[in-house]
Amino acid sequence: MNNIYGSTREELENYFLTNDEKKFKALQVFEWLYQKKEKNIDHFTNLKKELREKMKLNFSFSMPKIIRIEKDTLTRKYLFELEDKNYIESVIMFHDYGISICVSSQVGCNMGCRFCESGRLKKVRNLETYEIVSQLLLIEDDLKMRISSVVIMGIGEPLDNYENIIKFIKIINDAKGLAIGIRHITLSTSGLVPKIYDLMQEELGINLAISLHAPNDEIRNQIMKVNEVYNISQLLDSVRDYIAHTNRRVTIEYVMLKGINDNKTCAIELAEKLKGMNIYVNLIPYNETNHLEFKKSDVKTISEFCKTLKELSINVTIRKEFGSKISAACGQLRSKEVGL
Ligand code: SAH
Ligand code: SF4
Repeated sequence: MNNIYGSTREELENYFLTNDEKKFKALQVFEWLYQKKEKNIDHFTNLKKELREKMKLNFSFSMPKIIRIEKDTLTRKYLFELEDKNYIESVIMFHDYGISICVSSQVGCNMGCRFCESGRLKKVRNLETYEIVSQLLLIEDDLKMRISSVVIMGIGEPLDNYENIIKFIKIINDAKGLAIGIRHITLSTSGLVPKIYDLMQEELGINLAISLHAPNDEIRNQIMKVNEVYNISQLLDSVRDYIAHTNRRVTIEYVMLKGINDNKTCAIELAEKLKGMNIYVNLIPYNETNHLEFKKSDVKTISEFCKTLKELSINVTIRKEFGSKISAACGQLRSKEVGL
């Protein structure tokens, strides 16, 4: 059975049309679900009882459950139990411009990046669209506040769950859905090149972030298994094509790992590779995890790396650190529910 929170407006329109109903019913349903946030279909008063009964047979209205919330000053981490008793996490951050959420896309992750906690559990399954949408809905309910931006950077490789992620983006961006501005949605990928081309064709207008993390294949092979399949030159070619096609600036993420990718030679080599591209580099201070072989670079090393890139005309920022006290920072989320 389809879950109502996993249906795009277009899919609902088709549902109503094939059931001899008017297409605009889809719009009414979206208003109930996402604007009035009504959970009980019996309260959808502008739909006839007969139609509501039919919809109950055709759609599930169920959602995951929030089972734990951890709070830090500017961050909260939510643990969700899915209906099949798998677990995922989402994190929200309070900024001066609003609230952002980092959503998970899979239970576990198969990409096997050596420094990342989220990949410790191999992928169990993709999240269904409704399970990704629910992360926003349930957290907005909990906060009684609106979320204004979304990053798909939690557990999982979003482009390895392609169809569901595209539907998720369409639902949350829909003006009658959660109406999250398309420029306020960012997808981060470890670099599944064919899917980057697919994404380019969708012409969605979202922000794309690429987890590059190394200036050459030798280093990237050591830390990211995906590089053995799509190397840096293939990846950067796809990014160049993506930029040319979409006219959008792409973010290059670079996690600073002490003694591995953080010296001046690395910065120079990175600048060389990215020269002339419409990108900016986001340096991510590493959040230490149980992968004890990786340590965070010193603050001074990070600022020198940043300075070198700037001198070589690369746009660069250093990511503000959030949530490491409650293990809510990038790469610290997991699918295993711990210590409950
Ligand atoms: N799977 C996608 C999105 C989720 S990971 C991807 O890899 O892009 C989000 C970002 O956090 C990625 O750039 C990832 O490399 C980075 N990351 C993973 N572990 C980290 C850690 N321990 N500290 C800081 N960043 C980390
Ligand atoms: Fe998966 Fe991203 Fe972690 Fe790599 S960094 S293991 S792709 S979640």
